[in-house]
Amino acid sequence: MEREHINQLAIFGATGSIGQSTLEVVRRNPHAFAVRYMSGNSNADLLCAMVREFRPAAVAVSDPAAAEVVRAAVGDITEVLDGELALVELAGREDYGTMVSSLVGFAGLLPTIAAIRAGHHIALANKETLVVAGELISTLLSEHSVQLLPVDSEHSAVYQCLVGEPRERIARIILTASGGPFRGWTVEQLLHVTPQEALKHPNWSMGSKITIDSATLMNKGLEVIEARWLFDVPAERIDVLVHPQSIVHSLVEFTDGSVKAQLGMPDMKLPIQYALTWPDRGNERYTRMDLATIGSLTFEAPDTTAFPCLGLAYDALEARGTAPTVLNAANEVAVAAFLRGELPFTGIPALIDHCLQHVAHRAVRNIEDIVESDRETRAHATAHISSLSFYQSAM
Ligand code: NAD
Ligand code: MG
Repeated sequence: MEREHINQLAIFGATGSIGQSTLEVVRRNPHAFAVRYMSGNSNADLLCAMVREFRPAAVAVSDPAAAEVVRAAVGDITEVLDGELALVELAGREDYGTMVSSLVGFAGLLPTIAAIRAGHHIALANKETLVVAGELISTLLSEHSVQLLPVDSEHSAVYQCLVGEPRERIARIILTASGGPFRGWTVEQLLHVTPQEALKHPNWSMGSKITIDSATLMNKGLEVIEARWLFDVPAERIDVLVHPQSIVHSLVEFTDGSVKAQLGMPDMKLPIQYALTWPDRGNERYTRMDLATIGSLTFEAPDTTAFPCLGLAYDALEARGTAPTVLNAANEVAVAAFLRGELPFTGIPALIDHCLQHVAHRAVRNIEDIVESDRETRAHATAHISSLSFYQSAM
């Protein structure tokens, strides 16, 4: 009988940081979860190992060469889908429970929408989906009676603080930020930051894109937009507070001045498990918090001059329409270029600012408007990086 209660998961981005943490949650809760579907991009060896261990019914592999390798190795135990539409096709299937949306970047949008349209609940790590399409996603969730639970630690914290609280009593949401590896640095110091330095996050081990986003504070900017749509709270009531220890995961202030916070060690398995066990809590504990050992928790205001990305995200949210899509696409192009050594660290906000000013924003009528704006911004940003004048102006 127990099997009937097993939640059959579809884990999109199973080879990534969140995907691997999710699989650890599955390992630790074998009576609650199983893996029906998974996806990966190019890491064929890891995908094959995951297929052998979790025996999914099908796996989508985006990179065609990797798909061939996976098919040859484990094609006898699982169906292997490839090609551009594989992710959307798999996400749209009926016979699974919850989608764990843990692809990185804009690539997560269309599969997540396909899963919502097929009526699946969503555990959402892919914040970019809400950044570019928050309003449309909110409408789709209510049309399809789908529950979306945040995996992002800050939003999971806010979600937990709001249990049992009337929404109209929220005065302010306060998202905490570690401040990243360059907290306290000046603009001059930031000019010469290398990818290796930026990839060293003080508290969290994550994929490279979000690690760079944490170093520029764009991650917090994306999270402000994510919170706006998740909790239906306007931007002027969402604040950011730097908290270098990453123990207080976020806070909510209520209309009577009372403030609730959720605390825990920085370990993504906790918010992942909460998203999958909600409205219950799991029994598995991954890390134990010992405040006497931690000693002190400190807080400070973010430095929005040295780290302009946070302000750019508020600007894009206020501008609405496709402005957050322009912000997100410019950021993805900028981060990739920085990691390739083609753009200085301070060129990341410079490129995003440039795109917000030069790529037209439009009202969003449908998903195609967002896809088109993403494409247009990527083309513009890529061409702009190539121009020497831009490179020099950012230095
Ligand atoms: P990651 O880079 O470690 O993993 C990304 C996954 O997506 C991999 O499985 C990769 O193969 C797949 N992928 C990437 N590009 C793809 C493409 N074009 N087509 C198909 N598959 C593709 O990233 P991550 O750190 O696990 O982050 C995933 C998402 O979760 C991001 O949106 C991130 O902001 C969010 N998030 C991550 C953390 C964390 O601790 N890592 C915390 C909070 C939120
Ligand atoms: Mg976060």
